[in-house]
Amino acid sequence: MELLRTPAAMRAWADARRAEGARIGLVPTMGYLHEGHLSLVSVAKDAGCEAVAATIFVNPTQFGVGEDFEKYPRDEARDLAMLDAAGVDAVYLPGVKDMYPEGHQTFVEVTGVSRGLCGAARPGHFRGVATVVAKLFLAAKPHVAVFGEKDCQQLAVIRAMTRDLDFGIEIVGAPIVREGDGLAMSSRNVYLKGEDRIAARCLSRGLFRAKALFDAGERDADTLVGAARKETETEPRAKVEYAEGRDPVTLTPLSGRVDAVTILVAAKVGPTRLIDNITLGKMIPGRDAS
Ligand code: AMP
Repeated sequence: MELLRTPAAMRAWADARRAEGARIGLVPTMGYLHEGHLSLVSVAKDAGCEAVAATIFVNPTQFGVGEDFEKYPRDEARDLAMLDAAGVDAVYLPGVKDMYPEGHQTFVEVTGVSRGLCGAARPGHFRGVATVVAKLFLAAKPHVAVFGEKDCQQLAVIRAMTRDLDFGIEIVGAPIVREGDGLAMSSRNVYLKGEDRIAARCLSRGLFRAKALFDAGERDADTLVGAARKETETEPRAKVEYAEGRDPVTLTPLSGRVDAVTILVAAKVGPTRLIDNITLGKMIPGRDAS
């Protein structure tokens, strides 16, 4: 497994793989890896990528003032061992100064789909995400890039950017990997201590409650979202930031009767901000097309 620390090294690796005719798969992460991240590597391989690169970069431009950039968990040695075991071919670990050298002044902004949900709570977040992902795409030159459905709005932002800027990269969404009790895996789960870890189940419990109602025939979006919201609202250690029903493809708000809906929730459990989502109803063909 090759370690690449600069954009130039990443580009040289990508050029060499392309010269060999390999299909390159890219898995961007912020590190402190878990099974959810490793599932993205498997998805890249299953998508026929002969050369898979993962990236580890805690991107300062996607963190707001007072957020957890400094204390975001990091463990490079452990991450590298996990990626090696998962059969990754190269890991790109640029430093902040490699990505944002003195004088950096160019940003990518996806408008519509970045608004609302996490975009409302975290101003500038998706501008930071779109900018860093564009830079990773330009350095790693992938044919395929894999992102988790856990970060549902982020996936929609990246699909929009990839389409609008003609990157010509296939964006693949990978299903949410959960702990045994339903909690969506996240590097930030390490912040959940004691009672907060137990309380954190309320997000997925609400989403599963909505799924049970949907499976029993309920089709009213507000009823489904209300059921999801209630589990978190009634958890004393949790504070709901949003619970919304959105179109699974466009993420536009939905209410009334639905055939398919994505329910997204964000909540603070103690000091820790968590997000989760579920899509109910049949997946629309072409959802994965960028
Ligand atoms: P992060 O390191 O949190 O920025 O996540 C890197 C990538 O892993 C993103 O595409 C996430 O959506 C994805 N990811 C994070 N957690 C999960 C999970 N529990 N299941 C599937 N994908 C995930």
